[in-house]
Amino acid sequence: MNKVLDKKYSYLSNFFEAAISQNRLFHSIILYGSNNFIQYAMALELARKLNCLEDGNPDCNCQNCRWIRENKHPAVMTISKIDNKNDDSKTVISKQQVDEVLDKIFSSSEYHRVFIFCDAEIKELSQTETQEKDEFLNTGFASPQEGKDSKFWYPTGINGTCFQPVVANALLKSIEEPPSNTTFIFLTKDRDDLIQTIVSRSQAFYMADAKFTEYNTTFFEQYFSNYPNFDKGTVLDFVQTLLKYQSENDLEPTYVIDCIQYYLFELLKSNSDNKFLVGKIYRDIEKTEKSKKMLNSYIKENTVYEDLALYFTKI
Ligand SMILES: [Zn+2]
Repeated sequence: MNKVLDKKYSYLSNFFEAAISQNRLFHSIILYGSNNFIQYAMALELARKLNCLEDGNPDCNCQNCRWIRENKHPAVMTISKIDNKNDDSKTVISKQQVDEVLDKIFSSSEYHRVFIFCDAEIKELSQTETQEKDEFLNTGFASPQEGKDSKFWYPTGINGTCFQPVVANALLKSIEEPPSNTTFIFLTKDRDDLIQTIVSRSQAFYMADAKFTEYNTTFFEQYFSNYPNFDKGTVLDFVQTLLKYQSENDLEPTYVIDCIQYYLFELLKSNSDNKFLVGKIYRDIEKTEKSKKMLNSYIKENTVYEDLALYFTKI
């Protein structure tokens, strides 16, 4: 994996590697969080993994890896209101852009097509944005457009203003039944910025700004001591532990789930050679994503925690 991404987001890189090798990667992926530059780098890294002609290693210099690093690969496209645009609309991803994407995916291709949907502009960057840009450039990837003078291409999260529901809906059928070798990636600040019909058909991953977020896993680790065997007799205990930790520290339940998800990602890393275990961890991670969706649908956290704990007991 790419060194910058690997340092901070190895859990996600490992997850994608496992998913690709098991052929379980969803055709639609949402990366969400505050730092859209790092999401953009992760999207390109995923595109590289999917297209590498060798073994996908970070230093590979095959033609596909090279083109993707230079952001010039014909099958890896950034779709924003200013990228891959052949019409006059200025503020939105247009219907015409989506139609062009659809045309592309129905013609045959020797490559794995990756469409990265985001919002973007060319602008002067603030100090924080400059740091994010430098971090992005350190990943070895280029932006899709050169800047001008002191301005630089800057990605932000997609939302209902720049990606209007009627346009987004035109993609739905292809997201549901995509042609082979096609992956859609959406970058957002918040999953709620995307229409629900896309969210429900996608795998969503939170990319925390690693500068600010730490995950505590110590308060629940004892329940995983015999993992993958998760003792049915401890389910209620486990739920109580989560509720207690949440209320004592005044936390959002989604943060508690993120801590568990982070723990599972770490397990994935340390058990990457064990095919059986990787499958189980992978399913459990998917379940934590479903738990977060349940919380977003206003289901009570004790119900969500219990449902999750029961799921863990399945081998
Ligand atoms: Zn390669």
